[in-house]
Amino acid sequence: MARQIGKVDKKKLEEVVAELVERIGIIEGFGRAAHHIDALAEIETDRFGIAVTTVDGTMVTGGEAEEPFPIQSISKVFALTLALRAFGDDVWKRVGREPSGDPFNSVVDLERHKGIPRNPFINPGAIVIVDMLLDIAKNAETPRTVRDLLAAEIGEEVSVDRAVYDKESSAGFTNRAMANLCKSFDNLNHDVEAVMKPYVSQCAVALSCRQLALAGRYLMNGAGKTDQEPGDLLARRINAMMLTCGQYDGSGDFAFRVGLPAKSGVGGGILAIAPDVASIAVWSPTLDENGNSLLGTLALEQLSERMGWSVFG
Ligand code: GLN
Repeated sequence: MARQIGKVDKKKLEEVVAELVERIGIIEGFGRAAHHIDALAEIETDRFGIAVTTVDGTMVTGGEAEEPFPIQSISKVFALTLALRAFGDDVWKRVGREPSGDPFNSVVDLERHKGIPRNPFINPGAIVIVDMLLDIAKNAETPRTVRDLLAAEIGEEVSVDRAVYDKESSAGFTNRAMANLCKSFDNLNHDVEAVMKPYVSQCAVALSCRQLALAGRYLMNGAGKTDQEPGDLLARRINAMMLTCGQYDGSGDFAFRVGLPAKSGVGGGILAIAPDVASIAVWSPTLDENGNSLLGTLALEQLSERMGWSVFG
């Protein structure tokens, strides 16, 4: 049976989310939170929140859906959005569209590909994207930073987690190394420090699951329509990138288990999109070996299965 685009059984969704929260709650926190950023390593791991907003404007939440957490690499989706809106296909001259097969902060591929990062969702890719964002005209009426875009999409001010910002600003040696390598290959126009500041700042933006789900709504559009608008093409393309590269070297397993375009961050958040159906945010700080939320992935796997939302039918 073909999926009914946009139609969501609200009662069923509420039941599934409530069940998920109950089941996830009995799994004791295992593993550990991100340990390459001190401020994140201290957080308790057995925490969980979820928010699902659907095309018809329904919002269903569960667990700690109002608890803010640093979005970290999920910011890379919003930075790519700004870059594509401002520069269109020119973006792809400076960053690739292929999965990396390496960790998000790996330097090796960058040398092999002469300073062109494999995709915009690994750290060097996002660093190059932020370099581009610094060239968006100052008087532009559209948002120029991830924080501005998020505030506009959510309709609320968004804050930055100062502790995370300070830790990553003073350390971040690998990120600086990658930025320098891009610069040495002429793929960074601004000074390394001028790029690192907004990069670290967008990673440290703190959102709740409810806010993150709202921020992802523009990515729901585009599937199943014949009269495409420019925003639909953008959403389709970003979804393709999220499906193939959104969970780093765990993207294949994530597509296999969950079947939805998604982007993770080492703060424990994941934004997942069921095209033309729902924008979903989950949060749980315990990470797997690729830096993706363990319980968040499990929750999305069960949600997608129960609601029949996998893009693969
Ligand atoms: N701020 C983190 C870093 O630069 C982002 C990485 C992530 O979320 N995967 O390492």
